[in-house]
Amino acid sequence: MKYEEMLKNAIENLPDQEAGKQRFDVPKVKGHIQGNRTILSNFHIIAKTINRDPEHLLKFILRELASPGELSESAAIIKSKVSSEKVNNKINKYVHEFVICPDCGKPDTILKKEKGLTIKVCHACGSKHPVRTIK
Ligand SMILES: [Zn+2]
Repeated sequence: MKYEEMLKNAIENLPDQEAGKQRFDVPKVKGHIQGNRTILSNFHIIAKTINRDPEHLLKFILRELASPGELSESAAIIKSKVSSEKVNNKINKYVHEFVICPDCGKPDTILKKEKGLTIKVCHACGSKHPVRTIK
């Protein structure tokens, strides 16, 4: 699937507030390969949608892909060629591990540091779960 088509799907899959749907839709990554780099142009939007620090999200993805990379003001740059499918999979993995509450399944969580641990705190049901610390 092309990036353009993925974007179209992402737009079509936007949650329908009026219908009262509770689904949590993470935008599909939008980007392109430039030389040996992969530029993810909507990275900041994705981080904002899932309410997480783009730096933290990128660190996770880079570690998963075993690739160097960096954030720019408008995008994330992975210093290797990566398919959008692979990046989307990693983002889903991140969301599952660091955003979705394992008890109630809602994304209304925050990450909090507590005694050197990172804790995922759910605002919907109040549960707390330690998560991996990504350095
Ligand atoms: Zn919960």
